[in-house]
Amino acid sequence: MNYQKFILFVVLVYSFGCTQKAKIPAEQIITYNNIEKHIAELASDKYLGRAPMTQAEPLVVAYISEQMKEIGLEGANNGSYFQDVPILSVSSKLSETLDFETPNGKLGFQKLTEFVAFTRKVEAKMSLENSEVIFAGFGIVAPEYNRNDFDGVDVKGKTIIVFVNDPGYGTTGDYFKGNTMTYYGRWTYKFEEAARQGAKACFIVHETGPAGYPWEVVRNNGETTRYYPDTKNGNKDRCSFEGWISLASAKKLFDACGYSFDELKQNAISKNFKPFKLPVTVSAEMDCSFNHGVSKNVCGLIKGKSRPDEVVVYTAHWDHLGVGTAINGDSIYNGATDNASAVSWMLEIARAFKNGKQPERSVLFLSVTGEESGLLGSDYYAENPFFPMNKTVACINTDVILFDGKHKDVTITGFGQSELDNWVAVEAVKQGRYIIEDPNPENGMFFRSDQFPFVKKGVPAIFAKGYIEAEKLGKDETLKQISNYWANTYHKPSDEYHKEKADLNGLLEDAILSYKVGLNLADSKEWPKWNNDSEFKSIREKSFNN
Ligand SMILES: [Zn+2]
Repeated sequence: MNYQKFILFVVLVYSFGCTQKAKIPAEQIITYNNIEKHIAELASDKYLGRAPMTQAEPLVVAYISEQMKEIGLEGANNGSYFQDVPILSVSSKLSETLDFETPNGKLGFQKLTEFVAFTRKVEAKMSLENSEVIFAGFGIVAPEYNRNDFDGVDVKGKTIIVFVNDPGYGTTGDYFKGNTMTYYGRWTYKFEEAARQGAKACFIVHETGPAGYPWEVVRNNGETTRYYPDTKNGNKDRCSFEGWISLASAKKLFDACGYSFDELKQNAISKNFKPFKLPVTVSAEMDCSFNHGVSKNVCGLIKGKSRPDEVVVYTAHWDHLGVGTAINGDSIYNGATDNASAVSWMLEIARAFKNGKQPERSVLFLSVTGEESGLLGSDYYAENPFFPMNKTVACINTDVILFDGKHKDVTITGFGQSELDNWVAVEAVKQGRYIIEDPNPENGMFFRSDQFPFVKKGVPAIFAKGYIEAEKLGKDETLKQISNYWANTYHKPSDEYHKEKADLNGLLEDAILSYKVGLNLADSKEWPKWNNDSEFKSIREKSFNN
């Protein structure tokens, strides 16, 4: 939608109004005290940082389900407030080196400093023995950009090497979406596509800029225990090796093959890219052990009045990092902003719905597990939903709401993806707020929280919150505090709730906003669409034709 059409839409919907009158206005139902009560409770040390499958989990899921019951929600899973989520934990030990035979002799990359690899395939021993290596550009198959990085090569059982991010990165946006990362740029996509192509191993070349984080982040995940969906087929359809090689190693490897890094990069960025075999083979081994566990999503429902089979879904993950390395003598990672804030947001939205008139469509409230380990709870729900995805109107998610008071902005992550931007704008205007794009779309945050498993199934999603301009701080100071937050509080034991320092009025306003947007969607007959250049549009259209 162009800008003028967009404004027209906002004005029309605003002037004719589409929010039904609730029995008691949400502003009176969603209160500071209730919002604070849940955050103070869930972020307290009693919940030990809310790690799934630990002694903390029963306490957390009991609190949330009891709140749902008290609010008056039905159990959404055939009357139960819980959905079991099978989780696979994998511990692996890599061979010391990743060995390449090149035209210029052997090259061995050291584990952790020069390469890492993981697996989710349930097999005790993985090995690559003189595996052929294909350079597959960015590892992308994107029909809407007329691009297939596997065109004309067979990578079945072979190893592929790909660049991180997508060909738009660092450009002004005439190809892909410029610096705004598409899903094709995410490492998760690269491993999924490699598996679809039948590759045995996929190594992504790490670069700090386009990856969005330094090598240390990749390395720190090196030989830790990792969590994956525990699927019925033991993840047999996935690659044996999902890995990364450092930039310096990739340069050495390409040099040994007679190519410069820059030459291959330019080649990959080009619209005419063709994959090709590198004159090398690669060998490595990985020993793995597996554990099967179960965690829980917590789920409550309000049935729709006239169209109960159609649903609007709210999501907020309950899990956090648990007990870990002590910082300043504190080892409990309380996760007050991440994500007790959003659980509270969701519970109070549910209360507003229960106190209003019954919505026409059903509304599902889903507090999911395992977000921090890779969106495990939301992914499981999307694979095993209570309502089919083509009956799911939208997912409204949030994550990490800061406690810095009211905001002038509503920042939309994934701005430009779907018509839902307009649905948010309509209500933002009524609160006197402006909508704005996520300031760092290159980080691909739209693909990194619980809306994404829905998005991948074609369901449009909203991830919107006050973020870049707190009223009392002004924009510059807010941005300063945000970067301070990411550096010093995010995923640290200091993400705690301090009553005297916190101002939850912004969270309160976000809850009212998200409630109204959800209510509009639940009372509407519309199915908000993906925009034409969205990589998810065709998935939705296909799901409607099924
Ligand atoms: Zn989070």
